Amino acid sequence: MFRDGYPPSVAAVAKEQSKNPRGRLFVALDLPGDLREGIAAWSREALADPALRPVAPESLHITLAFLGYRPEKEVEAIAAVVGERAGPAPWVELLDPERRPPRGRARLYALPVLSPGAEGLQAGVAQGLAEAGFYEPEERPFWPHVTVARVRPEGRGSRRPAVVEKPPGKLPEGMSEARICRRMTLYRSELQPTGARYVPLAQVKLPG
Ligand code: ATP
Ligand code: MG
Repeated sequence: MFRDGYPPSVAAVAKEQSKNPRGRLFVALDLPGDLREGIAAWSREALADPALRPVAPESLHITLAFLGYRPEKEVEAIAAVVGERAGPAPWVELLDPERRPPRGRARLYALPVLSPGAEGLQAGVAQGLAEAGFYEPEERPFWPHVTVARVRPEGRGSRRPAVVEKPPGKLPEGMSEARICRRMTLYRSELQPTGARYVPLAQVKLPG
């Protein structure tokens, strides 16, 4: 199992990891800034329940492909595939909030997205990344959505979500008007106790 019969030391593992750093990667369709601000303004009341951890406005996005941990040295090639698969800038419509899972305690709240354009873009990006060996396509169908809040754990160290007493209601009119999304981004997600931070690694402007 181990090369010389001994498990590697902590130092050896750390050395190996620094030679082979990995990043948690995903590709997303970015929302226009004023739409993100609109969601943030709505969420101040709609997501005020203390059990909820609202997503910061700058982090709101539509995930197209979640790659998981990949070697950092692949980033350039992954970004190239994402660039090749840039399609026309899609129109998106936001729908009223939905919870996941639908029964039992909610873990997150999201705004489902109506957008044939985003579905086309997702299919192309997923296919390109899969063909290049960077991505394993999901079994379940693509669910385009914007996650707006995650439910905090019930207690410290618990994996069970807390009870949400006041779930978000419907979106105000005007927020579901169709909007065009002109940018696709490859992000690295840095997990932190306070929530993930997304660092843009490459951005593609979508034509049209
Ligand atoms: P946290 O996991 O700390 O709550 P997060 O979910 O925002 O934060 P990541 O887990 O790194 O951070 O996820 C980055 C993005 O990829 C998010 O939009 C997330 O919803 C999406 N994502 C994560 N895991 C998957 C998965 N298995 N399949 C599809 N999308 C995923
Ligand atoms: Mg997550």
